[in-house]
Amino acid sequence: MLDKVTKQKLVVIGNGMAGIRTVEVLLERAPDLYDITVFGSEPYGNYNRILLSPVLAGEKTVNDIMLNTEQWYEDNGITLRKGEMIEMIDRRTCEVVTVEGARVPYDRLLIATGSNPIMLPLPGKDLPGVIGFRDIQDVERMVHASTNYKNAVVIGGGLLGLEAANGLMKRGMNVTVVHLLDTLMERQLDQVAGGLLRKSLEERGMVFKMPAQTEAILGTDRVTGVRFADGEEIPADLVVMAVGIRPNVELARKAGLYCERGIVVSDTMQTYDGRIYAVGECVQHRRQTYGLVAPLFDQAKVCANHLAMKGFATYDGSVVSTKLKVTGIDLFSAGDFAPGADKEEIVMQDASRGVYKRIILRDKKIVGAVLYGDTIDGPWYFQHLRDGTDVSHMRERLVFGAANLGDGGHSGKNSVAAMSDDTEICGCNGVCKGTIVKAISEKKLFTIDDVRAHTKASSSCGSCTGLVEQVLAFTLGGDYSAAPKVKPMCACTDHSHDDARRVIIENGLKTIPDVMKFMDWKTPNGCHSCRPALNYYLLATWPGEYRDDQQSRYINERVHANIQKDGTYSVVPRMWGGVTTPDELRAIADVADKFNIPTVKVTGGQRIDLLGVKKEDLPAVWSDLNKAGMVSGHAYAKGLRTVKTCVGSEWCRFGTQDSTGLGVKLEKFMWGSWTPAKVKLAVSGCPRNCAEATCKDVGVVCVDSGYEIHFAGAAGLHIKGTEFLTKVATEEETLEIIAALTQLYREQGWYLERMYKWCDRVGLDAIRKQVVDDIANRKALFGRFAHSQQFSQSDPWAARAERGVDRNEFTPLAELELA
Ligand SMILES: Cc1cc2nc3c(=O)[nH]c(=O)nc-3n(C[C@H](O)[C@H](O)[C@H](O)COP(=O)(O)OP(=O)(O)OC[C@H]3O[C@@H](n4cnc5c(N)ncnc54)[C@H](O)[C@@H]3O)c2cc1C
Ligand code: SF4
Ligand code: SF4
Repeated sequence: MLDKVTKQKLVVIGNGMAGIRTVEVLLERAPDLYDITVFGSEPYGNYNRILLSPVLAGEKTVNDIMLNTEQWYEDNGITLRKGEMIEMIDRRTCEVVTVEGARVPYDRLLIATGSNPIMLPLPGKDLPGVIGFRDIQDVERMVHASTNYKNAVVIGGGLLGLEAANGLMKRGMNVTVVHLLDTLMERQLDQVAGGLLRKSLEERGMVFKMPAQTEAILGTDRVTGVRFADGEEIPADLVVMAVGIRPNVELARKAGLYCERGIVVSDTMQTYDGRIYAVGECVQHRRQTYGLVAPLFDQAKVCANHLAMKGFATYDGSVVSTKLKVTGIDLFSAGDFAPGADKEEIVMQDASRGVYKRIILRDKKIVGAVLYGDTIDGPWYFQHLRDGTDVSHMRERLVFGAANLGDGGHSGKNSVAAMSDDTEICGCNGVCKGTIVKAISEKKLFTIDDVRAHTKASSSCGSCTGLVEQVLAFTLGGDYSAAPKVKPMCACTDHSHDDARRVIIENGLKTIPDVMKFMDWKTPNGCHSCRPALNYYLLATWPGEYRDDQQSRYINERVHANIQKDGTYSVVPRMWGGVTTPDELRAIADVADKFNIPTVKVTGGQRIDLLGVKKEDLPAVWSDLNKAGMVSGHAYAKGLRTVKTCVGSEWCRFGTQDSTGLGVKLEKFMWGSWTPAKVKLAVSGCPRNCAEATCKDVGVVCVDSGYEIHFAGAAGLHIKGTEFLTKVATEEETLEIIAALTQLYREQGWYLERMYKWCDRVGLDAIRKQVVDDIANRKALFGRFAHSQQFSQSDPWAARAERGVDRNEFTPLAELELA
């Protein structure tokens, strides 16, 4: 452990939500690395700025929204200098300088200065009674005004303006909202949803003047009114400007750091000076600035990792969704919903229920969603939007939501905002809405995982997850579904499948414990989700070097047979291309007799399945089959299963090529290869397609002039025809392309992600480019596939039957007679 003298000095400018979230994550990652000093210009500890709206509305107190007490800073050895403003960063001497002139040195500096409200340059803007809505002081001023005055004008009909207006109305003021455009919250809502929102707010007593342009703020000692461009004047004792925010970049700019709209940062949240980081609303990343906390928390995580000297995480930008925190109004908006020639819309409007839904699609994927009145499916749409799911198979019913797709997304209840506190949200654990809301506020929860840990809600069957996310969003606003753009592999880590693969390669990690240690796994040994995935990634990355970890495989793969519902197993010997011989058939029949195997069945993939084998008989069954020259058909494997063929030109009147022969060649070349999920092939001798090649992971349809190669089909839980990849002239090219395609899938697919899902995720064109167009790349992929086959084409049955590998797995427990 480094002592205080040798620790590096980290100075944080900004005691707000992004800066302190970074410090919190940093303390988890590397608690002893830095001596931390935080400067905050506000005279308070760190508080939840989002909840200023409920404080204004009288639903919460300032104390309720404190996130970290001063004791927390003390307990963690952090020096908090609240109420102290930094005036200058001296990059030459690596010091920050306070307004009072104190100098504090840093080794690393984090700028998290947030943003400032835009104050329109109107005559009268500096009069007492004209304010923004940003901090506790603004709320105090508004509360004070509401006890002494009557009329308030809020300029700006966006999220912040409406929340301010709602709060002031609840405090008893007459409120007029002035908006430049004719749609409220136009950045989040379309015209119809904006109209419905306006109607609901009017019913509560809010007055709107829109479209309208404010020309001047009137008054001499204090504001008395507002004049508009059309000449109308209305009385006002308080004017709140909520027309937008501007990243607070002054300090950074003065220090010579490169700024545009915000402080420009890299994917590791570093400014142009590598010792200086920046996060939060003051930042501009890939041309984007953000004004909601979910993306800022993503940034904080990456920044903290980097500060902790674990530089493998990067920030790729965020997609955000929005909720309005006005009690009783259900509104959700996410993504891009501006009209466009390349977009399609699905709209549902039920005027009498006040429900409106608009889903915007591009290239079969959701790119935007606006929901009003019934927002229960918001998180579900948002998840698909972030994941880039191809939704064409559910398009017809998409607008009716997850419950109508049998997706178990939620119970179909709606309007979480209107639910009373004692409404049960989580049936499994009996958790009510009020309990969840209280936990979110009191325990400062931000994510669905936090809520699960503290209340148990959504921790069992998960069918209430949508509702719990709604409660989170409704309580905190914005998106808190804890499903950042990049999904973590599982609860044991914050890292995604792609992160894990990249880190394994870049750092030459060769064992599961090494990966977990390097990537700061949260659990000591991982779980049933991440262990098999890491095992596969290591196997696929280091063929011949990595020793497969049997304990990280599911039961079917551990015992090299499929477990059936009565605890017996099924055994499928490999029959190349579906072709067999009388000797093989005799051996199968003999094995069935000898071991009293009750069922022999032909599978959909043209193989013979021996069903009902006792676990302890497995090695003997394999031994007999091996003696007849048969090896494991890998019917249990996340690997190559079968190559189904038709009889082709050898026998069929229509056959244009030798489909059976090609199927045999493909199977002999590819058997034993491990893949992210199972892979099935088929070869048909002509477009009559008797081998059903167009619903397989990879299918070949022979034609007069050559071979059409298709892939990404499925005929299981989802049914999907294949995509056409390319057409080639020879068997050699067919084999090369299929092996290259499989290798690309092995290198990019996430564990358990079927080939068609991988294709959806990375895109058909990208795959075609790498496997078909770029010939050098194709050959390199083929080379890597062929290389790894040297190590994987060994029959797991033989090792266990003849050499007794893993014998203990197949030995029954002794039956002891109790006296
Ligand atoms: C009323 C309101 C409601 C909101 N509702 C939502 C919502 O529903 N959902 C949502 O996602 N987001 C919401 N937001 C936005 C959210 O609060 C911000 O995105 C988030 O707080 C920004 O975090 P930050 O750390 O970048 O900035 P801040 O939290 O603003 O922190 C910046 C801190 O830096 C300090 N500082 C600035 N300059 C200096 C200096 N020179 N020296 C020392 N200290 C300095 C400031 O005093 C401030 O405390 C809301 C914001 C407001 C104001
Ligand atoms: S796919 Fe064509 S070649 Fe193959 S069996 Fe059917 S008709 Fe014959
Ligand atoms: S289709 Fe279903 S029931 Fe039939 S074998 Fe497959 S998993 Fe079992």
